[in-house]
Amino acid sequence: MATVDFHCHLDLYERPVEVANVAAEKGVYVLSVTTTPTAFAGTSQLAPAGSYIRTALGLHPELAAARRGELALFERLLPSTRYVGEIGLDGSNPHRETLDAQIGVLTDILSLCARAGGKIMTLHSRQSVQLVLDVLELEPLAGTAVLHWFSGSKKAVERATEAGCWFSVNSAMLRSAAGRAAVEMMPRDRVVTETDGPFGTFNGAPLYPWQASECIPALAKLWGMEAANAEGLVISNLRRLVGTSTN
Ligand code: MN
Repeated sequence: MATVDFHCHLDLYERPVEVANVAAEKGVYVLSVTTTPTAFAGTSQLAPAGSYIRTALGLHPELAAARRGELALFERLLPSTRYVGEIGLDGSNPHRETLDAQIGVLTDILSLCARAGGKIMTLHSRQSVQLVLDVLELEPLAGTAVLHWFSGSKKAVERATEAGCWFSVNSAMLRSAAGRAAVEMMPRDRVVTETDGPFGTFNGAPLYPWQASECIPALAKLWGMEAANAEGLVISNLRRLVGTSTN
């Protein structure tokens, strides 16, 4: 396992089975996120036995208002996974108008996670960084929050770090000056890589999980170390994040 893609929508590629199989053959660690509880069962089946693909139970903020009826299914499925996501908030147009409903859904999910003893969560925070942190800070027992594609200010990175958050960073973040400034502020022992494929793209083509390693040279430069050491750090971070459990 040398490549870590801690936020990928395997079920949303044009050929999900093929992508999952190639990722498994390459030994990529993939956190395979879902956008609705209904998608969880089918998406779990994409992960070949013995692979490093783990499936997360999610309810995406862009769908949270319309699909909040699926919270009951979310609750029923929660004992079957240690991983939750994609969850979070989206304050961009046109989702801003459902923010109250999104906050309600996120609060409910975090409280279910807390009652379950804590989960490893991947969170979306587009144009809602402070709000996501407000909601997270109200439920400190929900587990470990990994902020995916986090685009907050340096101050927001500091606040998230103090709240115990981790970060998953992608190549789009590392290509932008503001993104690099944020990544530089992140504690390097709490950073893993991601693609957010197929939404994460390069030159118009969707990124595949094994391309998460394309982040490594830029991370190594920011961290002032050799690429091999940056890769090793991301892998040791992943091990600390997920522990030794094989679930
Ligand atoms: Mn995503």
